[in-house]
Amino acid sequence: MAEIYDPKPVTIPGFEFEERIIKAAARAEEECSADFKEIERTARINGERVLRAFINNKVSAACLNGSTGYGYGDTGRDTLDKVYAEVFGTEDAIVRATIASGTAALTTALFGILRPGDKIVSLTGSPYDTLEEVIGIRGKGNGSLADFGVIYDQVEMKADGKPNVAEIFQKVKGAKIAYIQRSRGYSLRPSLTVDAVGEIIKAAKGAEPSVIVMVDNCYGEFVETSEPSRVGADLIVGSLIKNPGGGIAHSGGYIAGRSDLVELVSYRLTCPGVGREAGASFDENRPLYQGLFMAPDVTAAALKTAVFTTRLMTMLGYKCYPQPDERRGDIITSVILGDPGALTAFCRGIQKGSPIDSFVTPEPWDMPGYDSQVIMAAGAFNNGASVELSADGPLREPYAAYVQGGLTYTTGRLGILCALQEMYEKGELKLFI
Ligand SMILES: *Cc1c(COP(=O)(O)O)cnc(C)c1O
Repeated sequence: MAEIYDPKPVTIPGFEFEERIIKAAARAEEECSADFKEIERTARINGERVLRAFINNKVSAACLNGSTGYGYGDTGRDTLDKVYAEVFGTEDAIVRATIASGTAALTTALFGILRPGDKIVSLTGSPYDTLEEVIGIRGKGNGSLADFGVIYDQVEMKADGKPNVAEIFQKVKGAKIAYIQRSRGYSLRPSLTVDAVGEIIKAAKGAEPSVIVMVDNCYGEFVETSEPSRVGADLIVGSLIKNPGGGIAHSGGYIAGRSDLVELVSYRLTCPGVGREAGASFDENRPLYQGLFMAPDVTAAALKTAVFTTRLMTMLGYKCYPQPDERRGDIITSVILGDPGALTAFCRGIQKGSPIDSFVTPEPWDMPGYDSQVIMAAGAFNNGASVELSADGPLREPYAAYVQGGLTYTTGRLGILCALQEMYEKGELKLFI
């Protein structure tokens, strides 16, 4: 191991790090070797699945071309839908660069399926922040599901972060959609493994066999060798500036699942009657194909960066979630920095080590919808892409930095070292003060 993880591999002027940081990093990296092997094994299986789907669906050079106007007969777009469906093991899928975000993909799916008087119940506590206004938990009269008479309920996770099966059994009765969020999002609850998602689905369908299980799959794609769609989810939804876009997709989202549901969603995506037949792909087919092709390995790089971050920060005395030997369900790590100065320095260091906008200094700001200031570091090729190395956190207790992404392990690792160096120089690195 010593020759692989040479404690001083960096000799480029400008990347000078405190000796103790470099030594700790080398030790952390050695501790990562079993995790890295497992991550590579997962990437290999997912990579095989992706390449097979390209071959089985006869992806051609012509598929990489786009379309304009109505986009009728866009074979690149339609073939990509089939490739995604095969990769996720679903009957059908819709993948579009024009879906604005993960939230927009989830919203399209929800509005495509739910009708006035229907009930949706979240089985994994509060959904992601941005969905509160979509559902109508927060804000009124903006065209939320609540405005259209859709009823919402939720089952809180138990104190230990596990799903509450007894309550799921009660509350799912009569629901049209049972909603599961795989990733932790911006909470400290553990992310769900695919097996755990499968258990929740079993409970939900046991109580209400006709319920449609929809999974917010954001940040989870390719983290394991299976996906929620392979353990009973009827619909999975995600963002292309996260894992499945492989850092190459410029924008977009996907919805994959049962063909009758995907068809309903397609009418909300464009209009009833027209559905998926229209919708120009412009020049975005190529990056979407290439991104999916890269995605298993890019997700692996993000996971390696996450594991390295966790082992190193834990070694330096910072609590991390997930903890070093916990199984991961997504690519996010929260590092409890415990102090506003430390959080600010950490994020500024990440920014300094980014390929884009490295010269910019992130400042805490009053982000709409938050009750405290938020600091964000994101020097990404695609605006806001969180499969690229990024870090952010609200300036309140416990001063947690949410760290995610890393297109390559080389640059992910360097980004983390830059964060620690910045903390060190500002006198904020615990062990070395
Ligand atoms: C990122 C994310 C979303 C969607 O967020 P957008 O910023 O709208 O893409 C939804 N749910 C979870 C769990 C996420 O991580």
